[in-house]
Amino acid sequence: MGKLTNFKRSLWVFHASGGSCNACDIEIVAVLTPRYDAERFGIKLVGSPRHADVLLVTGAIPRDFADKLRRIYEQMPDPKAVVVIGNCGTTGGVFYDSYNIAGPIDEIIPVDVYVPGCPPRPEAIIDGIVKAWLKIERLEKELEGKEK
Ligand code: SF4
Repeated sequence: MGKLTNFKRSLWVFHASGGSCNACDIEIVAVLTPRYDAERFGIKLVGSPRHADVLLVTGAIPRDFADKLRRIYEQMPDPKAVVVIGNCGTTGGVFYDSYNIAGPIDEIIPVDVYVPGCPPRPEAIIDGIVKAWLKIERLEKELEGKEK
C-alpha cells in the first residue's frame, strides 16, 4: 500500500446504511469509539454528505433506497471516494436473489474500495478508509496539476 503524503486535513466520512442487519454498522461505530479511536488519525464521522470526503455504505440496498443513495453520492463534493463495508453491499450477500434488492452497490454508484466480511473487523474497515484516503490524495494531486 502507498504512503499518505499529502496529509493536509482530516478525512470526513459519511455513513449510509441501506438494508443492513446493523452488524456492519456496529463495527463502524467500533472504529470510532475508544478502542480503535479513528478520530486520532483525523477520521471523523459527519452528519451530512455535503461535508464528506468518503462515503461508507452498508447493506444490500432495497429498491426504495437506491435513488436516495444516488442523491447522497451526488451531494458529496469532489474529490470523493466510496467504500462498501460488508458482503451484503459487495455482492448482495445472502440477499443476492431477493426481488426487492437493487444492489450490489456498484450497480447503483461507483465504488472505490470493497471491505468484505459479515461483518468485517474494525481493522479491515480502517484499512479500507486508508485506501480511500490514498485515492482522494491522488485525485487532489491530479486536480492541482490541472490548475497549474
Ligand atoms: S454483510 Fe453480514 S453483517 Fe453486514 S449487513 Fe450483511 S448480513 Fe449484516
